[in-house]
Amino acid sequence: MSRTRENTGFRCEQCGRSVAPLTNGSYRNHCPFCLYSKHVDITPGDWACACRGLMEPIGVRWKSGKGYQIVHRCRRCRAVRVNRTADDALQPDDYGLILQLMALGEEKSEEAYTLRVQLP
Ligand SMILES: [Zn+2]
Ligand SMILES: [Zn+2]
Repeated sequence: MSRTRENTGFRCEQCGRSVAPLTNGSYRNHCPFCLYSKHVDITPGDWACACRGLMEPIGVRWKSGKGYQIVHRCRRCRAVRVNRTADDALQPDDYGLILQLMALGEEKSEEAYTLRVQLP
């Protein structure tokens, strides 16, 4: 059974705000207000993961060719995912939060460092 996700909005389970779908055609996979995501995919957009845990933003990294990416970790199963930031016209990602995450990664956090090394 496969189920394709539609590009619809959702209500964020972390901050409770309504999130509109992206206007640029990409799929919105995290909340622009608090940057939390949800663990629903094995590959992006497939809705194939049964976990459904909340994914906490734990860092931001820069990848050439892809731009800024938010590193999310699932609170339930500890899986780590990397998601591109959304520069949507309507509801762009909170840039202040992204900057905070960046600073966090730079400062120390052995964990974030280890993750950076392990990520592709
Ligand atoms: Zn949120
Ligand atoms: Zn999970």
